[in-house]
Amino acid sequence: MSKSLLLAAWAALLALPAWAGQAVVTGHGGAVATISGPASQAAMDILNRGGNAVDAAVAAAATLGVTDPFSCGIGGGGFMLIYSARDRKVITIDHRETAPASFTPTALQRDGHPLPLAEAIASGRSVGVPGTVRGWHEALARYGSMSMQQVLQPAVAVAEQGFEIDANFHRINVLNEGKFRRFPATASLYLKDGRALPLGSWFRNPELAQTYRQIGTGGVRAFYEGELAQRIVDAVNMPAVRPGVTVLPGRMTLADLQDYEARLRQPVHSTYRGYDIYGMGLPSSGGIAIAEALNVLENYDLARMPPPQVQHLYLQASRLAFADRNAYVADGEFVDVPKAGLLSKDYARQRAAGIDLRADHGRVGQGDPYAFQQNLAVPLRPAAAGREEPVHTTHLTVTDRAGNIVSYTFTIEDWGGSGMVVPGSGFLLNNELTDFDFSGPHPNVPEAGKRPRSSMSPTLVFRDGRPVLSIGSPGGASIITTVLQVLVAHLDQGMTLASALAAPRLSQRNADTTEVESLLQFVGSPQALALESYGYRWRETDEIGAANGLRFNDDGSVTAVSEPLRHGGGSALVQER
Ligand code: GLU
Repeated sequence: MSKSLLLAAWAALLALPAWAGQAVVTGHGGAVATISGPASQAAMDILNRGGNAVDAAVAAAATLGVTDPFSCGIGGGGFMLIYSARDRKVITIDHRETAPASFTPTALQRDGHPLPLAEAIASGRSVGVPGTVRGWHEALARYGSMSMQQVLQPAVAVAEQGFEIDANFHRINVLNEGKFRRFPATASLYLKDGRALPLGSWFRNPELAQTYRQIGTGGVRAFYEGELAQRIVDAVNMPAVRPGVTVLPGRMTLADLQDYEARLRQPVHSTYRGYDIYGMGLPSSGGIAIAEALNVLENYDLARMPPPQVQHLYLQASRLAFADRNAYVADGEFVDVPKAGLLSKDYARQRAAGIDLRADHGRVGQGDPYAFQQNLAVPLRPAAAGREEPVHTTHLTVTDRAGNIVSYTFTIEDWGGSGMVVPGSGFLLNNELTDFDFSGPHPNVPEAGKRPRSSMSPTLVFRDGRPVLSIGSPGGASIITTVLQVLVAHLDQGMTLASALAAPRLSQRNADTTEVESLLQFVGSPQALALESYGYRWRETDEIGAANGLRFNDDGSVTAVSEPLRHGGGSALVQER
């Protein structure tokens, strides 16, 4: 194909309307987008009963814990961005899982060598102290208007009544058969005769309904203290396994649970072509990496460039941001991360100067952000590290009539987390501690009470003080590139939010190859061929980032958008059309 034909084919793709079947709705008042119909409905029910966006977000999240239990739940943690319309302020609630006090830098090693990832995942060792319930509590107590009991009610109903197992639930259940078989409590909930629950069968989770009821009446203490806390600790330290199976135990105590705190933190704030971007700060790398990449891209007039050139620059900016993220970012309570340097426009200009406009030259090294720190800290100069990071999680977003917005990503890490259901409780425990770098010295090395570096990137965009976008995604480290790609597609290339979310994803995380999606048959497409002339090579994965978002339109309406295809397709609802 000639270059002009390629460009024409690609321009036609960019101009495509929203995909058939994609959930895209516009209205006034409240709106919600999640990956699950019942979860979106739970949020809408709470909004219709007079709840605000925070109440509705917790209701949706609790319901996702029932309908999308392999991605998220009360056995894990997350990051919530809240825009309070009254205070005109963005705050974040970090309820990331935390390493128990017993954790040491060698906790994920054996005989001086990193544990194999699969062994670490399906173990008590990788379970971090869950943060989700504490996060929901802080969100409701400070910014909500309803009680925990009220907002958990829709999820209790879904867990009690059940739902039909769809293709996506079944697909992920099948992927987890081996892991789930090891643990009898998990096998009895999610397997039948050792195989994934059949497609189309009815699934109920009365034990999770009961756990939610306990939390509803007893509050956070019902989770972090007493009988349920004891069951969590026992599950982690003495995993109940099928005969003949051994898994590594953890060393979590009741004190670890009782001491768990969610943290209210300032968001990462940056600007991009007149927009204000608010993202998640440490221990997530999401906000910083996205801001750095956008600062790099700001050096180019993307709106006037042909799409392949824009994509090339997006991939180069991703490379640079990931080189720095991998080298410098970790839990800020343990490591003096050179945040100001990484966010500096001058630093980004220096990084951008190394980009070849015509070709990809493979991996790049980390830069030296310390020279751009205002307080010139002593440089650590660690080596860049990149490692395998699985891709899972869920994201949701809600707004209400008053204009409050929640952008919320939460997870149990791997599909099915550690694979361990807490016996009698109906929820899976996370394996979040595999997000540490298994061997030091590295800022993200395991330590007692530390939170592993995350990529979760709930993001809010404003212009002149008014909300423009709420966006976020699942997908491990590809969360960062998905959010960045959608921002570039929408803000620079003029794609609608719906088209930007539906378009094929390209994820370059400073690796030799660029990750693309087999679901969207990217390899061989005009877009792929155009980028191959820059030297890119592809690595296929099934899908990247079932994202969703809200677009606040100039006429005062809001458009809620979900994925058309990925993760079985998402859902979006508005209060009034
Ligand atoms: N553990 C990941 C993170 O915090 C999220 C889970 C995933 O998407 O794999 O970045």
